[in-house]
Amino acid sequence: MKEDSSIAPDSRFETRAIHVGQDWRDETGAVIPPVYLTSTFETGNPGGFDYTRSGSPNFRNLQNTLASLEGAKHCTVFGSGVAAITAVVSTLKSGDLVLAEENVYGCTYRLFDKVFAKFGVKVKYANFANTANYALIKDTKPVLVWIESPTNPLLKCIDIAAISKAARAVGSTVIVDNTFASSFLQRPLELGAHLSLLSTTKYANGHSDALGGAVCSNDAEWQDKMIFAQKALGLQPSPFDAWLVSRGLKTMSLRMERHSANALELAARLEKAKGIKWVRYPFLKSHPQHAIAKQQMSGGSGLIVADLGLSVEKTMRFMRKLHLFTQAESLGGIESLICHPASMTHASVPKSVRESVGITDGVVRFSVGIEHVEDLWADIAQAL
Ligand code: PLP
Repeated sequence: MKEDSSIAPDSRFETRAIHVGQDWRDETGAVIPPVYLTSTFETGNPGGFDYTRSGSPNFRNLQNTLASLEGAKHCTVFGSGVAAITAVVSTLKSGDLVLAEENVYGCTYRLFDKVFAKFGVKVKYANFANTANYALIKDTKPVLVWIESPTNPLLKCIDIAAISKAARAVGSTVIVDNTFASSFLQRPLELGAHLSLLSTTKYANGHSDALGGAVCSNDAEWQDKMIFAQKALGLQPSPFDAWLVSRGLKTMSLRMERHSANALELAARLEKAKGIKWVRYPFLKSHPQHAIAKQQMSGGSGLIVADLGLSVEKTMRFMRKLHLFTQAESLGGIESLICHPASMTHASVPKSVRESVGITDGVVRFSVGIEHVEDLWADIAQAL
């Protein structure tokens, strides 16, 4: 057995992804921690565990790994990305204002609009790609500034450092949904945000076989609130899902490199294809916030959004003609997926709101997997 299984504090991301949160051994010497399929723990155990709704060794392991990868002191895991969003919004009280980027994930919008509005939480939307709108932070002094970067589905890249500076000046808390970038490519807390939220269902797990969410911070008070929400609202993941996400994280660096390389190549080719109205990918020079993307991300990630310039019927036909891209919700898995945001991920957003932010009927979102890029391109080309 190793004399000391601790790792050097300056170990790189790839090393921490594999070794942090794994320092578990029992008399068997199992190299991989087991799944703790138990709902309850004997009182007085050395780990301080009592009941799985309020903690499990699998949550603790995953929380330690994710905190390390996000450059955070704390992390709390949840049963899904939406559960993580619920946890954060549940800390607000009636009358509190959230100033949110206008292009947020459809279910974030739905939670604000259909659930938390009933409890008096107010939400105002702004286009944070337009720096003139930063003034709204000063004018409205919201309790929370809510952004995604890149956004779902339009891949707008919002300047996290600049927004955080403006928010900190008036005492507002900034939360960044880091799901589309992943902890490997972007670390919001290092850019000045207070909270980084992940749907670990996506790139963190990476294999489309588990659901999960996480909130990372450097603030002990926020961590207490998140732990409270995990148990008081019953937002915890299953130990098995937490275990799967822990396993997924170990290959995240390799996957993200391949997702990013494949997506950049496909986006460049799509941009040159006949009839395509526009293609958006953060690491393409044509992206409206390309400079910001380069500044805060170390790769462009695996998502491409494009307006094929087709009617809904023809867009659907294009999707049906694909062999390797499966039409499905979600993203961030090793296999390529395609979705039609207007009828799928953002169907819960009213058409007028959807179209006003650019989610028109011809827009498709590719989640580019880690298959061979030439096979992926051949598939897209034949369907086009
Ligand atoms: N945040 C973003 C940006 C997402 O795209 C999603 C899901 O697609 C979520 C949060 C919600 O995550 P989950 O599906 O794990 O609840």
